[in-house]
Amino acid sequence: MGVLKVKTASGEYEVLIEKGAADVVGSRLRTVGDGGKAAIITDDNVMPLYLDRINENIKKAGFETYVYVLPHGESSKNGCEYLKILEFLAQSELDRHDNVIALGGGVVGDIAGYAAATYLRGIGFIQIPTTLLSMTDSSVGGKTAIDLKAGKNLAGAFWQPKFVAIDTDFLKTLPESEIKNGLGEILKYAVISGGGILRMLEDGFGKHVSEIVEASVNVKRRIVEADEKESGLRRILNFGHTPAHAAEKLSGYSLSHGVCVAAGVNVMLRASVRKAGCPACDAERIAALSRKYALPVSFAYSPGELAAASVNDKKSQGGFINLVLAEKIGSVFSEKVPLTELEEYFR
Ligand code: ADP
Ligand code: ZN
Repeated sequence: MGVLKVKTASGEYEVLIEKGAADVVGSRLRTVGDGGKAAIITDDNVMPLYLDRINENIKKAGFETYVYVLPHGESSKNGCEYLKILEFLAQSELDRHDNVIALGGGVVGDIAGYAAATYLRGIGFIQIPTTLLSMTDSSVGGKTAIDLKAGKNLAGAFWQPKFVAIDTDFLKTLPESEIKNGLGEILKYAVISGGGILRMLEDGFGKHVSEIVEASVNVKRRIVEADEKESGLRRILNFGHTPAHAAEKLSGYSLSHGVCVAAGVNVMLRASVRKAGCPACDAERIAALSRKYALPVSFAYSPGELAAASVNDKKSQGGFINLVLAEKIGSVFSEKVPLTELEEYFR
Protein backbone atom coordinates (compact mmCIF):
# COMPACT_ATOMS: atom_id res chain seq x y z
CA MET A 1 0.00 0.00 0.00
CA GLY A 2 1.26 3.48 -0.84
CA VAL A 3 1.50 5.55 2.33
CA LEU A 4 2.34 9.25 2.24
CA LYS A 5 2.93 11.15 5.46
CA VAL A 6 1.73 14.76 5.40
CA LYS A 7 3.47 16.97 7.96
CA THR A 8 1.83 20.29 8.77
CA ALA A 9 2.19 22.80 11.59
CA SER A 10 -1.04 21.45 13.07
CA GLY A 11 0.07 17.81 12.99
CA GLU A 12 1.04 14.85 10.86
CA TYR A 13 -1.32 12.47 9.09
CA GLU A 14 -1.13 9.58 6.66
CA VAL A 15 -2.64 9.21 3.22
CA LEU A 16 -3.14 5.55 2.33
CA ILE A 17 -3.39 4.91 -1.40
CA GLU A 18 -4.28 1.52 -2.84
CA LYS A 19 -7.03 -0.68 -4.11
CA GLY A 20 -8.62 -2.01 -0.93
CA ALA A 21 -7.54 0.95 1.27
CA ALA A 22 -11.19 1.28 2.35
CA ASP A 23 -10.99 -2.05 4.14
CA VAL A 24 -8.48 -0.80 6.71
CA VAL A 25 -10.51 2.26 7.77
CA GLY A 26 -11.91 0.64 10.93
CA SER A 27 -8.57 -0.67 12.18
CA ARG A 28 -6.88 2.66 11.39
CA LEU A 29 -9.58 4.53 13.22
CA ARG A 30 -8.68 2.53 16.32
CA THR A 31 -5.11 3.83 16.15
CA VAL A 32 -5.93 7.54 15.88
CA GLY A 33 -8.16 8.16 18.87
CA ASP A 34 -10.12 6.81 21.78
CA GLY A 35 -13.66 7.79 20.80
CA GLY A 36 -16.38 5.16 20.52
CA LYS A 37 -18.57 6.78 17.84
CA ALA A 38 -18.15 7.56 14.16
CA ALA A 39 -20.53 9.65 12.04
CA ILE A 40 -20.35 8.75 8.36
CA ILE A 41 -21.41 11.56 6.02
CA THR A 42 -22.07 10.52 2.42
CA ASP A 43 -24.32 11.37 -0.53
CA ASP A 44 -27.22 9.52 -2.14
CA ASN A 45 -25.13 8.27 -5.09
CA VAL A 46 -22.27 6.92 -3.02
CA MET A 47 -24.52 5.46 -0.31
CA PRO A 48 -25.86 2.47 -2.29
CA LEU A 49 -22.39 1.76 -3.73
CA TYR A 50 -20.06 1.87 -0.74
CA LEU A 51 -21.80 2.73 2.52
CA ASP A 52 -22.43 -0.84 3.71
CA ARG A 53 -18.85 -1.87 3.13
CA ILE A 54 -17.42 1.09 5.07
CA ASN A 55 -20.08 0.99 7.77
CA GLU A 56 -19.53 -2.74 8.44
CA ASN A 57 -15.79 -2.26 8.48
CA ILE A 58 -16.00 0.49 11.07
CA LYS A 59 -18.57 -1.35 13.19
CA LYS A 60 -16.38 -4.46 13.15
CA ALA A 61 -13.58 -2.39 14.66
CA GLY A 62 -15.88 -1.70 17.61
CA PHE A 63 -17.38 1.70 16.82
CA GLU A 64 -20.99 2.79 17.06
CA THR A 65 -21.82 4.36 13.69
CA TYR A 66 -24.29 7.05 12.62
CA VAL A 67 -25.02 7.84 8.98
CA TYR A 68 -26.07 11.13 7.37
CA VAL A 69 -26.90 11.16 3.64
CA LEU A 70 -26.81 14.38 1.60
CA PRO A 71 -28.44 14.84 -1.79
CA HIS A 72 -25.56 14.62 -4.32
CA GLY A 73 -24.17 17.68 -6.07
CA GLU A 74 -22.66 21.07 -5.33
CA SER A 75 -26.04 22.57 -4.37
CA SER A 76 -25.87 20.55 -1.13
CA LYS A 77 -22.73 22.40 -0.01
CA ASN A 78 -24.80 25.10 1.68
CA GLY A 79 -25.33 26.59 5.12
CA CYS A 80 -28.64 24.82 5.61
CA GLU A 81 -27.19 21.32 5.05
CA TYR A 82 -24.17 22.29 7.16
CA LEU A 83 -26.41 23.16 10.13
CA LYS A 84 -28.40 19.96 9.61
CA ILE A 85 -25.15 17.97 9.87
CA LEU A 86 -24.17 19.81 13.07
CA GLU A 87 -27.61 19.08 14.56
CA PHE A 88 -27.24 15.44 13.50
CA LEU A 89 -23.84 15.18 15.24
CA ALA A 90 -25.34 16.69 18.39
CA GLN A 91 -28.41 14.39 18.25
CA SER A 92 -26.06 11.42 17.87
CA GLU A 93 -24.23 12.70 20.96
CA LEU A 94 -20.77 12.66 19.45
CA ASP A 95 -18.19 14.06 21.82
CA ARG A 96 -14.70 15.54 21.39
CA HIS A 97 -13.09 12.09 21.13
CA ASP A 98 -15.34 10.91 18.29
CA ASN A 99 -14.85 11.19 14.53
CA VAL A 100 -16.62 12.41 11.42
CA ILE A 101 -15.97 10.30 8.31
CA ALA A 102 -16.47 11.82 4.87
CA LEU A 103 -17.33 9.14 2.30
CA GLY A 104 -17.76 10.77 -1.10
CA GLY A 105 -16.42 13.36 -3.49
CA GLY A 106 -15.33 16.93 -2.88
CA VAL A 107 -18.81 18.10 -1.90
CA VAL A 108 -19.08 15.58 0.94
CA GLY A 109 -15.45 16.12 2.02
CA ASP A 110 -15.79 19.89 2.12
CA ILE A 111 -19.05 20.11 4.06
CA ALA A 112 -18.32 17.18 6.41
CA GLY A 113 -14.85 18.63 7.06
CA TYR A 114 -16.27 22.04 7.91
CA ALA A 115 -18.81 20.42 10.23
CA ALA A 116 -15.99 18.43 11.92
CA ALA A 117 -13.90 21.62 12.20
CA THR A 118 -16.65 23.52 13.99
CA TYR A 119 -18.71 20.96 15.95
CA LEU A 120 -17.60 21.30 19.62
CA ARG A 121 -14.89 23.63 18.21
CA GLY A 122 -13.43 20.78 16.25
CA ILE A 123 -13.53 16.95 16.37
CA GLY A 124 -11.64 14.22 14.51
CA PHE A 125 -12.10 13.96 10.76
CA ILE A 126 -11.31 11.19 8.28
CA GLN A 127 -11.50 11.45 4.49
CA ILE A 128 -12.48 8.58 2.21
CA PRO A 129 -12.58 10.33 -1.18
CA THR A 130 -14.49 8.51 -3.93
CA THR A 131 -13.95 10.77 -6.97
CA LEU A 132 -10.73 11.26 -8.92
CA LEU A 133 -10.86 15.00 -8.19
CA SER A 134 -11.23 14.58 -4.43
CA MET A 135 -8.59 11.81 -4.31
CA THR A 136 -6.00 14.00 -5.98
CA ASP A 137 -6.96 17.42 -4.69
CA SER A 138 -9.55 18.30 -2.07
CA SER A 139 -9.03 15.39 0.38
CA VAL A 140 -5.44 16.44 1.12
CA GLY A 141 -4.44 19.86 2.41
CA GLY A 142 -7.01 20.60 5.09
CA LYS A 143 -9.26 23.07 3.30
CA THR A 144 -12.92 22.66 4.24
CA ALA A 145 -15.79 24.89 3.15
CA ILE A 146 -19.38 25.52 2.18
CA ASP A 147 -20.74 27.85 -0.51
CA LEU A 148 -22.58 31.11 0.19
CA LYS A 149 -25.01 32.87 -2.16
CA ALA A 150 -22.20 35.27 -3.09
CA GLY A 151 -19.85 32.51 -4.22
CA LYS A 152 -18.26 29.11 -3.77
CA ASN A 153 -16.23 28.11 -0.69
CA LEU A 154 -16.75 31.48 1.02
CA ALA A 155 -17.14 30.05 4.53
CA GLY A 156 -14.69 27.45 5.76
CA ALA A 157 -11.75 26.47 7.91
CA PHE A 158 -8.37 24.82 7.68
CA TRP A 159 -8.92 21.48 9.41
CA GLN A 160 -6.55 18.59 8.80
CA PRO A 161 -7.89 15.02 8.64
CA LYS A 162 -6.53 12.35 11.01
CA PHE A 163 -5.95 10.20 7.92
CA VAL A 164 -7.08 9.87 4.33
CA ALA A 165 -7.91 6.47 2.80
CA ILE A 166 -7.83 6.54 -1.01
CA ASP A 167 -9.25 3.36 -2.52
CA THR A 168 -8.73 3.62 -6.27
CA ASP A 169 -11.18 0.73 -6.76
CA PHE A 170 -13.94 3.28 -6.13
CA LEU A 171 -13.12 4.86 -9.50
CA LYS A 172 -14.62 1.83 -11.28
CA THR A 173 -18.13 3.18 -10.75
CA LEU A 174 -17.28 6.83 -11.37
CA PRO A 175 -18.90 8.25 -14.54
CA GLU A 176 -16.52 9.15 -17.39
CA SER A 177 -17.37 12.85 -17.00
CA GLU A 178 -16.10 12.76 -13.40
CA ILE A 179 -12.90 10.99 -14.47
CA LYS A 180 -12.33 13.86 -16.93
CA ASN A 181 -12.98 16.32 -14.13
CA GLY A 182 -10.16 14.75 -12.11
CA LEU A 183 -7.85 14.51 -15.10
CA GLY A 184 -8.00 18.31 -15.53
CA GLU A 185 -6.55 18.74 -12.07
CA ILE A 186 -3.97 15.98 -12.68
CA LEU A 187 -2.86 17.84 -15.83
CA LYS A 188 -2.08 20.77 -13.52
CA TYR A 189 0.09 18.52 -11.32
CA ALA A 190 1.85 17.29 -14.46
CA VAL A 191 2.80 20.88 -15.34
CA ILE A 192 3.83 21.78 -11.79
CA SER A 193 6.02 18.70 -11.30
CA GLY A 194 6.88 17.51 -14.82
CA GLY A 195 8.44 14.05 -15.07
CA GLY A 196 6.57 10.97 -13.95
CA ILE A 197 2.96 12.13 -14.00
CA LEU A 198 3.38 13.47 -17.51
CA ARG A 199 4.94 10.26 -18.83
CA MET A 200 2.32 8.07 -17.15
CA LEU A 201 -0.51 10.19 -18.61
CA GLU A 202 1.12 9.91 -22.03
CA ASP A 203 1.33 6.14 -21.61
CA GLY A 204 -2.31 5.86 -20.51
CA PHE A 205 -4.19 6.79 -17.34
CA GLY A 206 -5.84 3.34 -17.13
CA LYS A 207 -2.47 1.59 -16.89
CA HIS A 208 -1.19 3.69 -13.99
CA VAL A 209 -4.24 4.81 -11.99
CA SER A 210 -2.91 4.26 -8.44
CA GLU A 211 0.58 5.53 -9.33
CA ILE A 212 -0.83 8.70 -10.92
CA VAL A 213 -3.07 9.34 -7.92
CA GLU A 214 -0.14 8.79 -5.56
CA ALA A 215 2.21 11.03 -7.56
CA SER A 216 -0.44 13.79 -7.69
CA VAL A 217 -1.08 13.59 -3.94
CA ASN A 218 2.67 13.70 -3.43
CA VAL A 219 2.95 16.98 -5.35
CA LYS A 220 0.13 18.45 -3.30
CA ARG A 221 1.69 17.07 -0.07
CA ARG A 222 5.03 18.75 -0.75
CA ILE A 223 3.38 22.09 -1.38
CA VAL A 224 0.93 22.12 1.52
CA GLU A 225 3.65 20.98 3.90
CA ALA A 226 5.69 24.00 2.98
CA ASP A 227 2.72 26.37 3.12
CA GLU A 228 -0.24 25.05 5.09
CA LYS A 229 -2.34 28.21 5.00
CA GLU A 230 -1.64 29.56 1.53
CA SER A 231 0.64 32.49 2.27
CA GLY A 232 2.99 31.87 -0.63
CA LEU A 233 4.09 28.60 -2.23
CA ARG A 234 0.62 27.05 -2.05
CA ARG A 235 -0.45 29.61 -4.65
CA ILE A 236 1.26 27.55 -7.33
CA LEU A 237 -1.51 24.98 -6.89
CA ASN A 238 -3.67 27.62 -8.54
CA PHE A 239 -1.94 27.09 -11.88
CA GLY A 240 -4.64 27.45 -14.55
CA HIS A 241 -7.27 28.29 -11.94
CA THR A 242 -7.81 32.05 -12.42
CA PRO A 243 -9.33 31.74 -15.93
CA ALA A 244 -10.96 28.43 -14.88
CA HIS A 245 -12.81 30.06 -11.98
CA ALA A 246 -13.87 32.89 -14.30
CA ALA A 247 -15.28 30.45 -16.87
CA GLU A 248 -17.09 28.43 -14.19
CA LYS A 249 -18.69 31.63 -12.96
CA LEU A 250 -19.61 32.81 -16.47
CA SER A 251 -21.28 29.44 -17.15
CA GLY A 252 -23.40 29.80 -14.00
CA TYR A 253 -21.41 26.81 -12.69
CA SER A 254 -22.76 24.50 -15.38
CA LEU A 255 -19.17 23.77 -16.51
CA SER A 256 -17.27 21.42 -14.24
CA HIS A 257 -14.22 22.55 -12.32
CA GLY A 258 -11.67 20.07 -13.65
CA VAL A 259 -12.65 20.58 -17.26
CA CYS A 260 -12.25 24.36 -16.82
CA VAL A 261 -8.90 23.76 -15.11
CA ALA A 262 -7.73 21.80 -18.18
CA ALA A 263 -8.58 24.75 -20.44
CA GLY A 264 -7.01 27.13 -17.89
CA VAL A 265 -3.80 25.10 -17.77
CA ASN A 266 -3.53 25.36 -21.55
CA VAL A 267 -4.35 29.09 -21.60
CA MET A 268 -1.75 29.82 -18.90
CA LEU A 269 0.88 27.73 -20.67
CA ARG A 270 0.37 29.71 -23.88
CA ALA A 271 0.58 32.92 -21.79
CA SER A 272 3.79 31.55 -20.28
CA VAL A 273 5.25 31.04 -23.76
CA ARG A 274 4.54 34.72 -24.56
CA LYS A 275 5.45 36.21 -21.18
CA ALA A 276 7.71 33.87 -19.22
CA GLY A 277 9.98 32.25 -21.79
CA CYS A 278 8.28 28.86 -21.57
CA PRO A 279 9.26 26.70 -24.57
CA ALA A 280 6.40 26.44 -27.09
CA CYS A 281 6.96 22.66 -27.28
CA ASP A 282 6.02 22.37 -23.57
CA ALA A 283 2.68 24.07 -24.24
CA GLU A 284 2.18 21.81 -27.26
CA ARG A 285 2.97 18.69 -25.23
CA ILE A 286 0.25 19.52 -22.69
CA ALA A 287 -2.20 20.47 -25.45
CA ALA A 288 -1.63 17.07 -27.08
CA LEU A 289 -2.20 15.33 -23.77
CA SER A 290 -5.41 17.33 -23.24
CA ARG A 291 -6.69 16.23 -26.63
CA LYS A 292 -5.79 12.61 -25.86
CA TYR A 293 -8.20 12.76 -22.90
CA ALA A 294 -10.81 14.89 -24.75
CA LEU A 295 -10.13 17.84 -22.44
CA PRO A 296 -10.48 21.39 -23.80
CA VAL A 297 -7.44 23.55 -24.61
CA SER A 298 -9.35 26.85 -24.65
CA PHE A 299 -12.54 28.48 -23.37
CA ALA A 300 -15.75 29.42 -25.16
CA TYR A 301 -15.42 32.89 -23.54
CA SER A 302 -13.35 35.79 -24.85
CA PRO A 303 -10.21 36.96 -23.00
CA GLY A 304 -12.10 40.14 -22.07
CA GLU A 305 -15.00 38.21 -20.57
CA LEU A 306 -12.64 35.98 -18.60
CA ALA A 307 -10.67 38.98 -17.31
CA ALA A 308 -13.82 40.87 -16.30
CA ALA A 309 -15.11 37.82 -14.43
CA SER A 310 -11.78 37.51 -12.56
CA VAL A 311 -11.92 40.99 -11.06
CA ASN A 312 -13.92 39.75 -8.07
CA ASP A 313 -11.81 36.63 -7.65
CA LYS A 314 -11.16 36.16 -3.94
CA LYS A 315 -7.44 36.00 -4.77
CA SER A 316 -7.37 39.52 -6.25
CA GLN A 317 -6.36 42.44 -4.06
CA GLY A 318 -5.78 46.18 -4.53
CA GLY A 319 -6.01 46.11 -8.32
CA PHE A 320 -3.61 43.14 -8.62
CA ILE A 321 -4.01 39.40 -8.91
CA ASN A 322 -1.48 36.60 -8.37
CA LEU A 323 -1.17 34.62 -11.58
CA VAL A 324 0.82 31.41 -11.81
CA LEU A 325 3.04 31.07 -14.87
CA ALA A 326 5.40 28.34 -16.07
CA GLU A 327 9.04 28.87 -16.94
CA LYS A 328 8.83 25.35 -18.38
CA ILE A 329 7.04 22.11 -17.49
CA GLY A 330 8.20 21.29 -13.96
CA SER A 331 8.88 24.89 -12.90
CA VAL A 332 6.06 27.31 -12.09
CA PHE A 333 6.04 30.59 -10.20
CA SER A 334 3.53 33.13 -8.96
CA GLU A 335 3.53 36.70 -10.27
CA LYS A 336 1.53 39.79 -9.25
CA VAL A 337 -0.25 41.12 -12.32
CA PRO A 338 -2.35 44.33 -12.56
CA LEU A 339 -5.98 43.47 -13.24
CA THR A 340 -5.86 45.86 -16.19
CA GLU A 341 -3.35 43.55 -17.92
CA LEU A 342 -5.18 40.32 -17.21
CA GLU A 343 -6.87 40.14 -20.60
CA GLU A 344 -3.42 39.98 -22.23
CA TYR A 345 -2.68 36.75 -20.37
CA PHE A 346 -5.95 35.09 -21.35
CA ARG A 347 -5.53 35.60 -25.09
P1 ADP B 1 -16.05 16.43 -6.81
O1 ADP B 1 -15.25 15.40 -6.11
O2 ADP B 1 -15.81 16.48 -8.25
O3 ADP B 1 -16.01 17.76 -6.12
P2 ADP B 1 -18.83 15.56 -6.10
O4 ADP B 1 -18.65 15.34 -4.65
O5 ADP B 1 -19.91 16.49 -6.51
O6 ADP B 1 -17.55 16.02 -6.83
O7 ADP B 1 -19.04 14.17 -6.82
C1 ADP B 1 -19.36 14.11 -8.21
C2 ADP B 1 -20.50 13.15 -8.46
O8 ADP B 1 -20.02 11.81 -8.47
C3 ADP B 1 -21.62 13.18 -7.43
O9 ADP B 1 -22.85 13.06 -8.09
C4 ADP B 1 -21.33 11.98 -6.57
O10 ADP B 1 -22.49 11.49 -5.96
C5 ADP B 1 -20.79 10.99 -7.58
N1 ADP B 1 -19.83 10.00 -7.06
C6 ADP B 1 -18.87 10.22 -6.15
N2 ADP B 1 -18.08 9.15 -6.03
C7 ADP B 1 -18.58 8.20 -6.87
C8 ADP B 1 -18.18 6.87 -7.22
N3 ADP B 1 -17.09 6.32 -6.70
N4 ADP B 1 -18.93 6.21 -8.12
C9 ADP B 1 -20.00 6.80 -8.69
N5 ADP B 1 -20.41 8.05 -8.44
C10 ADP B 1 -19.71 8.75 -7.53
ZN1 ZN C 1 -8.89 22.91 -8.64
